[in-house]
Amino acid sequence: MTAAPARIPLAGVIGSPVAHSRSPALHGYWLRHYGLKGHYIPMDIAQADLRQALEVLPRLGFVGVNVTIPHKETVLGLADIITDRAALIGAANTLIFRKDGRIHADNTDGSGFIANLRQEAAHWNPGAGPAAVLGAGGAARAVVAALLEVGVPEVRVANRTRPRADALRADFGARVVVYDWVQAGNMLEEAATVVNTTALGMTGKPEFRVPLDALDPRALVTDIVYTPLETTLLQQARAIGCTTVDGLGMLLHQAVPGFERWFGKRPEVTPETRAAVLAG
Ligand code: NAP
Repeated sequence: MTAAPARIPLAGVIGSPVAHSRSPALHGYWLRHYGLKGHYIPMDIAQADLRQALEVLPRLGFVGVNVTIPHKETVLGLADIITDRAALIGAANTLIFRKDGRIHADNTDGSGFIANLRQEAAHWNPGAGPAAVLGAGGAARAVVAALLEVGVPEVRVANRTRPRADALRADFGARVVVYDWVQAGNMLEEAATVVNTTALGMTGKPEFRVPLDALDPRALVTDIVYTPLETTLLQQARAIGCTTVDGLGMLLHQAVPGFERWFGKRPEVTPETRAAVLAG
């Protein structure tokens, strides 16, 4: 008797909507680039169908999925194994469907955020001074956790809805210092790292208007918004003399662990990867 041929691994991204997702272009590029067998598929799945989808997908040959809005928090309640960082952040972006049938949930947004800064600004020293984080949404939780993990001495947070920022301090401890949203400009003083995690400045959203007078030209400024790539914040910060890093690299780097686990090859983030995703 001959053994059945190995199944071609399937992975994808689940969310609603998912049509805007750049993940299929990214994983598709890596699959072609490394000559690997596999497919990566965008799947628009309604909240009401999520549980059933996670039961069925492994049986159809899926080895895992990325998770995007609005399922990032809900999937934690459906996973069997949750990494410490996903539990701390309260959301997962990467699911692995294990051979034993269990679902493993991880959050790689924070490690992707740091990997992007290290690649694009090799001189960046997290310990050089406080970080100022604008916003306290889902992505901010991953960013703050990652900044604390790499040794930023103080993480200042300002958010339009203050209780969300207060929750970050309650969850992550006294190295998080909360500022009122109207004081957001003041928290930039002496900050060595500045991060926009709000949707401000994104195409279709209100303009980013936090005053940058207190920004130190030695600061590293990054925006996790990547549509447009060159946000108003980044333009203004560069004019002041700051090193700036755009948000596309975070998206590329957060995808590395999932791709490696699903398709068996650790992919590299290169200028060609960026170009493929921008074209895709
Ligand atoms: P989220 O949980 O909905 O949080 C949105 C954040 O933006 C909150 O802090 C919110 O403040 C703030 N905000 C929205 N409109 C505002 C306004 N008019 N004035 C002031 N603050 C406003 O979303 P998220 O998942 O954290 O995503 C945030 C952004 O990051 C999005 O643009 C997303 O595309 C981007 N992102 C990028 C990556 C990447 O890989 N580069 C990864 C994840 C997310 P309130 O709490 O007051 O509403």
